[in-house]
Amino acid sequence: MQSFKKDYYEVLGVSRNATQEEIKKAYRRLARKYHPDFNKDPEAQEKFKEINEAYQVLSDPEKRKLYDQYGHAAFQGAGAGGYTQETWGDLFETIEDIFKGFGFEDIFERRGRRRTQRKPVKGEDIYHTVELTLEEAYSGKVVSVPVLREVPCPVCEGYGYDKTKGERACPTCGGRGVIYQRQFFISISQTCPTCNGEGVIREPCGRCAGKGTIPQKEEIKVRIPPGVDNGSRVFVEGKGHAGLYGGPAGDLYLLIKVRPHHLFERRGDNLYLDINIKLTEAVLGAEVEVPTLTGERIKVRIPPGTKEGDTVRVEGKGMPRLRGSGFGDLILRIHIDVPKLGLMDKFFGDGRRLKQLLEELDKLLPEPQRIRTRQP
Ligand SMILES: [Zn+2]
Ligand SMILES: [Zn+2]
Repeated sequence: MQSFKKDYYEVLGVSRNATQEEIKKAYRRLARKYHPDFNKDPEAQEKFKEINEAYQVLSDPEKRKLYDQYGHAAFQGAGAGGYTQETWGDLFETIEDIFKGFGFEDIFERRGRRRTQRKPVKGEDIYHTVELTLEEAYSGKVVSVPVLREVPCPVCEGYGYDKTKGERACPTCGGRGVIYQRQFFISISQTCPTCNGEGVIREPCGRCAGKGTIPQKEEIKVRIPPGVDNGSRVFVEGKGHAGLYGGPAGDLYLLIKVRPHHLFERRGDNLYLDINIKLTEAVLGAEVEVPTLTGERIKVRIPPGTKEGDTVRVEGKGMPRLRGSGFGDLILRIHIDVPKLGLMDKFFGDGRRLKQLLEELDKLLPEPQRIRTRQP
């Protein structure tokens, strides 16, 4: 179905022998009247399209000649029913030129800004290593962390440009933020490389050179919770680098390193301590005093018949649990101190007596099963 099409000369309100200058003038007048930025009447948009279509043909001497000869039929067929992207691209440029000449730059600046509202970007995170002793990991600690973070520039408040010097339309894209590249019959729009799609060129801020942020030294106090381990991370929200375009600041991550202890070995929430007991203590059992990480000394019962390598567990005397509550255990690894009689002779003098007793004991002890059978 063919819709009724108005005569292009009629649309622009000019005579059939109007000059190019007259056509352009008529078009400018009508384009301003019906441009959707000025005219909110729903019919204005349709009218505006019509005006542009007429102008596209009549402003081009070749097309105008064809139109004069064949009327609308000259442009029917492939691509003639509507506008190709190319013609719309051209059209836009034309309209813009016209408005610029009339002092309507602000429309395009406004557009430029709307088009280029950049997505907020979260600031980068900062990583910092904190070394603790095992005792500090046990009790927790407030540490003061020196960081060099990017903070919003106090002069431009993070905008990156000097607000007092104003801004001007980008010369590359004419303030539109996009440029058109023609390929065959279509034109492809891409972000303007000069202004990064913002449509305006601004004087960069003198303090931050347009970056919007400046580096600032800060001491950040962070509470390290009790129970952290080697490789734990403590996260401090918003203490990383400043974000861009209204995005939130990054975070600060403290990587925890716990130095090895000279007595205790940590495995998870448990602490291991190696202790030596006498041969007789192994046989008879004993009560021994051992240190804990907090400095407190505790008495621990070693059961009779303890063997080399056995462990004795003391509940709740390990590390505080980082997740959940309570404490891990202290695990004593038992080693039996076997006396060397030769040395005893030299230092204590009564090695002979000890030897006699042990020989007597030897006769009393039951014969062990020499070869142990393996457990399948
Ligand atoms: Zn600045
Ligand atoms: Zn530009």
